[in-house]
Amino acid sequence: TPTYLGALRCKEEGDPSAMATSLKVAVVGAGVAGLIAARELQRESHQVVVFEKSHRLGGTWAYDPRVESDLLGLDQNREIIHGSLYKSLRTNLPRQLMSFTDFKFSDKTYGDERLFPGHEEVLKFLEDFAGSFEVTELIRFNTAVTRVELVDSDIIEFEVESKTNGVNAVEVFDAVVVCNGHNSEPRPAFDIPGIETWSKKQMHSHNYHVPEPFRDQIVVLIGNGPTALDLSREIATVAKEVHMSSRSPAPYAKVSKSQKFSNIWQHAKIDCINKDGTITFEDGISIDAYIIFHCTGYKSHVPFLKTNGIVSVQEKRIGPLYKLVFPPQLAPRLSFVGLPEKSLTFLIIECQSKWIAKTLSTKISLPSKDQMLRDIKEHHGDIEDDGFPKAYTHFLEIENDYIDWMSTQLEMNVDKKFTDMFKYLIHCFRSGNFDNFMNLFELKYGV
Ligand code: FAD
Repeated sequence: TPTYLGALRCKEEGDPSAMATSLKVAVVGAGVAGLIAARELQRESHQVVVFEKSHRLGGTWAYDPRVESDLLGLDQNREIIHGSLYKSLRTNLPRQLMSFTDFKFSDKTYGDERLFPGHEEVLKFLEDFAGSFEVTELIRFNTAVTRVELVDSDIIEFEVESKTNGVNAVEVFDAVVVCNGHNSEPRPAFDIPGIETWSKKQMHSHNYHVPEPFRDQIVVLIGNGPTALDLSREIATVAKEVHMSSRSPAPYAKVSKSQKFSNIWQHAKIDCINKDGTITFEDGISIDAYIIFHCTGYKSHVPFLKTNGIVSVQEKRIGPLYKLVFPPQLAPRLSFVGLPEKSLTFLIIECQSKWIAKTLSTKISLPSKDQMLRDIKEHHGDIEDDGFPKAYTHFLEIENDYIDWMSTQLEMNVDKKFTDMFKYLIHCFRSGNFDNFMNLFELKYGV
C-alpha cells in the first residue's frame, strides 16, 4: 500500500482545481542536475526529496574505477556502473563555464588550479555547492528509484517506488523532476557491414580507465567528439597505432596523419569489416586491428518511468518535451533536467531548474498544451529538415538561442562574456586544430 506523505497542496475550499503553490517534489538523482534542481525547488518553498542510488553525490563526477562485465554495455542484466569518467580526465570546458551564476567554480580552487581541471576538482566543487546550500540533507543516499508512475486521477500525482538496501517503499509526490543522467548506457556503432562477425575485441569508452591494456596494439577508434580526441591521444602514448574513424565528411575524406602524434591517423568512415578480420575505411585503407574502440556516446535511458506512453524514448530522443524540459500533457508536474548536449551544461541546468521551480510555484506560466506541442513539432521538423537524425534532438549547438530564451523567461542576466567564451571554445574545437585546442583557449583566457 502506498504511503501518502501529505502533499503540501494549497487548495482553496470547494475548488479542487486551484493551483498548488508549494508541492512535494521528488528529484531522481544527485548529480549536477539533481543538486541544482533541489536548491531551486527549495528556494521556491517546495518540499524536496532527492533520491540517489549511489552512496555519494556528484553523479558523473564521482569517479568510479570499476569496469562492467560486458565492455560494450549490451547485456541488459549486467550491473550498470553509472560513471563514464576515465582516470586522467580533465574537463573539456574551462572552469568559468562550469559555474553556477551565484557559485562560481572560477572563484574557487580545491588543489587543482588549472583552467581545465581534473575530475576530482569538479567533485569537490559540487560537494562544496551541496554543503553551502544545505542540499546534502535532502538526499536519500543508496536509494534507487525503480518506478515513477502516473496515478490515475484528475489531479496529476506520481507514485514513486524506491529501494534502499533491498527494502522497497512507495510514496506519492505532486511532481517529479528527472535528473538521472544520460551517460551510462553505451551506444556502440553497429551499423558497420561485417561487424557482427568480428571476433576480436570491442569496447565502449564507458569502460575505459587507463591506456595500459592497449600497449603495443593497433587500435581502431570510432568517434570524433571530445572523448574520442582525448582518448586517441592518451592511447597513442602506449599503442603501436591509433586509427580514428568518423562519419563526418570533409576534412576526413582522405586519410591524414596527426601533426603532433606520429602514430595517429584520421580516416573516413569504416566501409566494412572483411572476412579475414581486416577493417577497410572509405578512404581505401585496410587495417588489421586488435580492437575496435567505440567512442560513440550514449543512449537516453529512463527505465523507471511509466506514463502510459505519454513520454517515450526513441533512439536518443526523449519526448515529446517542450524546450527539452516539460512533456506538455503532464506539465509542469513532470520535468527533465540536463538533457541538452554539446552545450553549457551547468548554466543550462541552472536555468532549467529555476524555470521548473518557478513554474511549479505558479510564478511563471507555460503556454497552452497545444502551443507547446506545436513548438515541439517545429523543433523536430527543423532537425529533420537540416538532415539530422532524431538522436540530435538534444544537441543545442543547433539551437544557440536556448540560453537567451531561458534567461528571458526567468528575467535573469547571463553575462555575455560567458556565452562568448563558449562560442570561442567551439570555434577552437571546430577549427580542426584538435591537437592544441586547450592550449589555444588557455592562451586567450589565461589561468
Ligand atoms: P549525472 O552526473 O549522470 O547524475 C545522475 C545521477 O542520478 C547519478 O548520481 C546517478 O547515480 C543518479 N541516478 C540515476 N538513476 C537513478 C535512479 N533510478 N534512482 C536514483 N538515482 C539515480 N560536462 C561539462 O560541463 N564539462 C565537461 O568537461 C564534461 N566532461 C564530460 C566527460 C565525460 C566522459 C562525460 C560522460 C560527461 C561529461 N560532461 C561534461 C557532461 C556531464 O554529464 C555533465 O557535466 C553532468 O555531470 C550531468 O549531470 P546530471 O546530473 O545530468 O547527470
